[in-house]
Amino acid sequence: MSHPEVTNPNIQAQLDLLREKSLYRHLRGIDSPQGSHVFIQGTRYVNFSSNDYLGLADDEALKTAAQAAIQKWGTGSGASRLVTGSLKIHHDLEERIAAFKQEERGVIFSSGFQANLGTIQALAGSEDTVFVDRYCHASLIDGARLSGARLRVYPHCDMDRLGELLGKCDKGQKLILTDTYFSMDGDVAPLPELLEMARRHEAILLVDDAHAVGVMGPEGRGLTEAFGLQGQIDVVVGTFSKALGSQGGFVVGQKSLIEFLINKARTLIYTTGSSPANSAAALRAIELIQADGSRRQRLWENVRYLREGIAQLGFDLLNSEGPIIPLILGETSQALHFSKTLEGEGILAPAIRPPTVPRGTDRVRLSVTAKHSKDDLDHLINTLRKI
Ligand code: PMP
Repeated sequence: MSHPEVTNPNIQAQLDLLREKSLYRHLRGIDSPQGSHVFIQGTRYVNFSSNDYLGLADDEALKTAAQAAIQKWGTGSGASRLVTGSLKIHHDLEERIAAFKQEERGVIFSSGFQANLGTIQALAGSEDTVFVDRYCHASLIDGARLSGARLRVYPHCDMDRLGELLGKCDKGQKLILTDTYFSMDGDVAPLPELLEMARRHEAILLVDDAHAVGVMGPEGRGLTEAFGLQGQIDVVVGTFSKALGSQGGFVVGQKSLIEFLINKARTLIYTTGSSPANSAAALRAIELIQADGSRRQRLWENVRYLREGIAQLGFDLLNSEGPIIPLILGETSQALHFSKTLEGEGILAPAIRPPTVPRGTDRVRLSVTAKHSKDDLDHLINTLRKI
């Protein structure tokens, strides 16, 4: 039986509007594993837009660990964690990530997004107030919205304004949310000041270390390590899906916090335990990072080389540091044109547009990894010089 074509005028009108504003998005199929080079429909591109900072997403050791876990544990966890889906390998990973982050205890979620949603919703309610940096990741903002708490957005990294807002709040629990390493701007939150502010105003501090784990800190434990704040921040969230080359989110902190989340976080309670293969790959990634700093060393050599090359071309790299390099281009059409031109030169770096970034700051967000060769970096620098 053929289906009559169903067209919802509202959906179609919204799609048309997105197209009109050059904000329409579509999914592009990549025909190869994640890496510094990828293939799309037979064309090879140097990939400057992944979060695979250490090049672990297609690493042989991680793949072997994931395959072995499938043989031992199967492909699915089969139930939610609190029913019968809490496999030993999940517990092993929780212990390992807590030890790596130098916190008391950890719990894993199916994604970093779910870790933020479930944790914030568990910690705040309608009587409370959540303070969010304007450039926080969508999952932090959505968690705040979902909690039903009052939302106070403060300008990016503006501690004076945050202090004012906290000072004005005299009822309920206060919860401060921030990325540690901002994913679209590549700058670092002032964690010691945030912690001091949280203590002064008796607020809970939640930091999302998603892009810093494996990248920042003397041992690659993240920005909590770089600032020497292990064991001091109330709630530390992260993900296995970026430098750790796998999938899944985590929260680490005090034992009571983790027990609370196991009892309260809806995105943990009402979802199936994550795949054993993901946990095995994440475990192996942490082992590799702890055993051998050479990937991180290569990453930072590349960061320094590329940043120097791009800065010499006169780009304003804002306050960014590390592997995330924002090239702010202004209007959407300019960012799209820039990205298309790069693509013509064999470089993949999609335009980042609103609502991911504020209007008028459309950009190409470059990210460098340990796997890029000097030739890859030179190719990017020379292409930027040309265009
Ligand atoms: N937090 C931040 C800062 C992120 O950038 C992301 C992913 N873009 C997430 C959380 C979500 O992590 P995941 O991909 O594991 O859902």
